[in-house]
Amino acid sequence: FNVPIAVNEPVKSYAPGSPEREAVLKAYKEMFNSTVDVPMYINGKDVLTGNTRTMSPPHDHKHIVGTYHLAEKQHVEEAIATALEARKSWAVLPWEQRAGIFLKAAELIAGPYRAKINAATMIAQSKTIHQAEIDAACELIDFLRFNVQFMTDIYAEQPESITEAWNRIEYRPLEGFTYAVTPFNFTAIAGNLPSCMALMGNVVVWKPSDSQIYSAKVIMDVFNEAGVPDGVINVVFGDPVMITDTIMSSPDFSGLHFTGSTFIFKELWKQIGNNIHNYKTYPRIVGETGGKDFIVAHKSANAKQVATAIVRGAFEFQGQKCSAASRAYIPTNLWEDVKNYVIKDVNSFKMGSPEDMSNFITAVIHEGSFDKLVKYIDQAKADKDAEIIVGGNYDKSKGYFIEPTVIVTSNPKYTTMCTELFGPVITIYVYDENKYSETLTLVDETSEYALTGAILATDRYAVDEATKTLQNSAGNFYINDKPTGAVVGQQPFGGARASGTNDKAGSAQNLLRWVSPRMIKETF
Ligand code: GLU
Repeated sequence: FNVPIAVNEPVKSYAPGSPEREAVLKAYKEMFNSTVDVPMYINGKDVLTGNTRTMSPPHDHKHIVGTYHLAEKQHVEEAIATALEARKSWAVLPWEQRAGIFLKAAELIAGPYRAKINAATMIAQSKTIHQAEIDAACELIDFLRFNVQFMTDIYAEQPESITEAWNRIEYRPLEGFTYAVTPFNFTAIAGNLPSCMALMGNVVVWKPSDSQIYSAKVIMDVFNEAGVPDGVINVVFGDPVMITDTIMSSPDFSGLHFTGSTFIFKELWKQIGNNIHNYKTYPRIVGETGGKDFIVAHKSANAKQVATAIVRGAFEFQGQKCSAASRAYIPTNLWEDVKNYVIKDVNSFKMGSPEDMSNFITAVIHEGSFDKLVKYIDQAKADKDAEIIVGGNYDKSKGYFIEPTVIVTSNPKYTTMCTELFGPVITIYVYDENKYSETLTLVDETSEYALTGAILATDRYAVDEATKTLQNSAGNFYINDKPTGAVVGQQPFGGARASGTNDKAGSAQNLLRWVSPRMIKETF
């Protein structure tokens, strides 16, 4: 298969005076100071229902940047019908044509849409420019480029044949239509989930998060300009229960590609189970859900490196990555140094609007998230077995701002050591440096989730022991690094236990879930 060799998109610096910085600030200002009316997108047409909600940046929640239109049941039904109609042509289109569309989408983001998709992500999701660039630009471009490579790797996988019998596998798209449900925290995931299914020849109904509509709109604009035909990817907004009920009651529903909360994913799975007798095929279910990701330092680790892993792993994008470090286990011998470095780093962070590029921390996504985080922070202030050593202040008068907060606990099973908070809060347990093995066992036993985790150590026996004891505690395991920032084509991403089905995003393994192979044997 002759396709362009996939390469990772280089991350731009946005240094003062750089052209990319000028461009993104210009786009940000224009988009922030005007209003946009975002239609749904069904069968290649803008759908304006008149039933709208407003969009506001989390860092300036009284400021309105636009509205978006909400679906009634009939719109979801139309999206399904339209997708099934489009499937007749799309599913039989040669793969080169599909690949060409998504490779073009990658280049549109790399070039003319880069400033816009980054600005939309800064406004809608309150990402700093660096966090927007590694997500909305680079990671999405990487997904689009690498998926074409993965697709051809799959197609190349063929059985042996003998002279009198030719065996071949045809990688058919799923019969019916697929459903993509995407989160607010990564524009790249929002773009990848519907597009990777479409790349494999499927048709899609896509429901983005209400907190990501602005960047979802830019993604749709890109897909349109790249030439995705009418009806292949349909976007609906609004009531998730009504949308999901309508989709899952269709006999043609054939796959769910989900990233979001563990609770919702389990509810959707149950709903699919309840409808199972109505479907023409067993729907594929792929989900990436929560995490309670750990950092374990061994007594041989470098304290500065441990502190950097903690602050970057826990606080970039306000800790709102499924992969974010949210619990750490630090040995007694390193604690004083780690603590001092962490406090110094956190105190140096500036918090505010992403438009001011010197800010490292911006707002959390919405009021619900803010209120939940505040509850845990206030509880930690009151609890005897917890102490906040830095941060702990918050203010939602203008935006949903919460200081990066470090809780230290004497109880390894303290609430915030075990509960996923999804915000800029990390809890640290200081363990007896001579109880490393027991601590590793404890980490595994308290890993209800198993998405990411990191071991920091210079002693290779310690690294080996952690690798073995924590074998099932993380789907992405980092040695001497922070547990965030998986790169497409380098670290396929996903976890098991309550963290998902572990069908690694950014790998052929994921794309394989979106095909239904037909084995053909021909004898001569
Ligand atoms: N892939 C991202 C990372 O490695 C996390 C994705 C997510 O939060 O769902 O940091």
